[in-house]
Amino acid sequence: MAYYNEKIETMPKDELSKLQYQELKKLVTRLYDSSAFYHKKMDETGVKPADITSITDITKLPFMKKTDLRDNYPDGLVCVPHEDLVRYHVSSGTTGKPTVVAYTQNDIDLWSECVARSLVSCGVGKKDVLQVCYGYGLFTGGLGLHYGGEKVGATVIPASTGNSERQIELIQDLKTTAIACTPSYFIHLIDVAKRMGVDFNKDTLLRTAVLGAEPWTDAMRRYIYAESGVTAHNIFGTSEISGPMFTDCSELNGMHICGDIAYTEIIDPKTGEQLPPGEKGELTITVLKKEAIPMIRYRIGDITSIIEGDCACGRTSPRIDRLQGRVDDMLIIRGINVFPSAIEHALLKNPYLTSHFMIEVFRTGPLDDMLVKVELKPDAMTDSINGLMEMQMRTERALRDALNVSAKIELCPPNSLPRFEGKAKRVIDHRVI
Ligand code: ADP
Ligand code: ZN
Repeated sequence: MAYYNEKIETMPKDELSKLQYQELKKLVTRLYDSSAFYHKKMDETGVKPADITSITDITKLPFMKKTDLRDNYPDGLVCVPHEDLVRYHVSSGTTGKPTVVAYTQNDIDLWSECVARSLVSCGVGKKDVLQVCYGYGLFTGGLGLHYGGEKVGATVIPASTGNSERQIELIQDLKTTAIACTPSYFIHLIDVAKRMGVDFNKDTLLRTAVLGAEPWTDAMRRYIYAESGVTAHNIFGTSEISGPMFTDCSELNGMHICGDIAYTEIIDPKTGEQLPPGEKGELTITVLKKEAIPMIRYRIGDITSIIEGDCACGRTSPRIDRLQGRVDDMLIIRGINVFPSAIEHALLKNPYLTSHFMIEVFRTGPLDDMLVKVELKPDAMTDSINGLMEMQMRTERALRDALNVSAKIELCPPNSLPRFEGKAKRVIDHRVI
């Protein structure tokens, strides 16, 4: 099965724009009439539903930010009677106070449909056994993938996070073919399997991974394939737009944002101006059909771009490039912008290093210092001090070339840095700002 919903997924672009306009118009009219929050926000911006006459008029509408949800914590933005709610989730709170998300049954159905389309685009279908190792609970990852997996008819294993040896046993015993978790946790599972004498490629049927919830790189995708024979797909979402929703397809070249469900804009984070395809900026999403807590022009804070051109898979919805991190993940070191994902990319060019790394930033005197701790692969361990020093200097040079700023490298033995079941914590910033 190539598509979950072929008609919608391959709809001609002009028809899709028309559909997006109709949905937006309905949404804006409903919210202007029924929500004090949106009514006030639109009045302050001087825009009325009648001003929206095409999808491009979306730029007339005000933005929403995480602070809008935080200011209205816990449920001030709920736009339906409370008895119509069927579920709450709460975000991980990576950048501060968590936000609450509420769902009607239609919201859950729409989210599941989107995950189902995404899973099929990753090649996961009825014949698959999908092990979901995202946290089940307040975090949207577990239940989001679970419902989508059931919708495509896969056999879902609600393994949740943790107990890694048990996860490997389940992969073997239940003949898991696809897995969903964070990229850092999947790398950890590869290591644990190796220690148990299990080679994913030879000893299991696992061939597809759907990885997200944190930034990762194409270098990591290649590393995963080389180490396990598993093809890793990227999945993206945030709890505010419902949860994990959008993946890259078989082309592995950008994540399709289901256009009938969500409208994508990339904006200049400083001016708020919409940027053309190909230009990097802040991802901004309008969920066109959400009922309980609708999101209009929600500034997600992640930096990416819309990929130009049509995708060979036949889907007509726009694709976004890998997210290089959030605006607030970006470190400013000696005035230079550094994303942890760029460090991962540079480290993984060295075949002796792994993707287990941590960044520490200090301020001694007027200048910032960055220390990058990275684990060596077991077969890169050497007794030779010269060998290690050479590797350290080579890695420092490679980072300086890639980032335009110096970092000290500390090579660490295998399994010495912390592991994370959920989102990896990569940065410890000791600077007092
Ligand atoms: P929180 O904002 O508390 O972390 P979520 O759990 O909803 O809440 O996480 C959403 C965020 O996780 C996104 O805004 C993004 O920064 C990050 N994220 C999710 N999926 C990916 C991905 N595939 N690549 C990079 N970052 C991701
Ligand atoms: Zn595609």
